[in-house]
Amino acid sequence: MEGSVSSPVDRGLRAHAWVPRAGRAVVLSHQITMTAMLRLTRDTYNEMVAHAYRGLPYEACGLFGARPGTTDVVAFYPMKNVAASSEIYQLDGMEMMNVESAADAAGAQIVGVMHSHTHTTAYPSPTDVSDAAMFDPFGAWHFIIVSLKDAEPVLRSYRMLDGKITEEPVVVEVQAAL
Ligand SMILES: [Zn+2]
Repeated sequence: MEGSVSSPVDRGLRAHAWVPRAGRAVVLSHQITMTAMLRLTRDTYNEMVAHAYRGLPYEACGLFGARPGTTDVVAFYPMKNVAASSEIYQLDGMEMMNVESAADAAGAQIVGVMHSHTHTTAYPSPTDVSDAAMFDPFGAWHFIIVSLKDAEPVLRSYRMLDGKITEEPVVVEVQAAL
């Protein structure tokens, strides 16, 4: 169910994954009770961070897609920030429709938006919260923020509903061992 807090059956998670937060790595295991969580492939994570750097000095943005009915993010669609601003981002409506078609064709479902913060932490700004209320009144989307404030990029994800911000854990799958 879209917007449900229950997690999908934990089949795809590898034994070890790490939470990408600057300065420390957290090892998760199957034993941890899965609450709402966003799972990124390694490629998707790398593409989001690369897009954030490419967008400098402006905020970068894009949509991402998951396997339908899951929070397993399998595709990232870098987009232009039509606001061309270091303080806000704005998606292009036509590009958004094209991205949704591409996601459909790839068997993915758009489940959220990523944007970067060039000089502030990876936490939703008041503008982000009011945008979420407009774009996503039912709190179904995931809002990823990549902060480039520090030397190491920091990626975090949030749900937003009725002005309330809830952070959700992000797991980046480790590459399968050869
Ligand atoms: Zn923001």
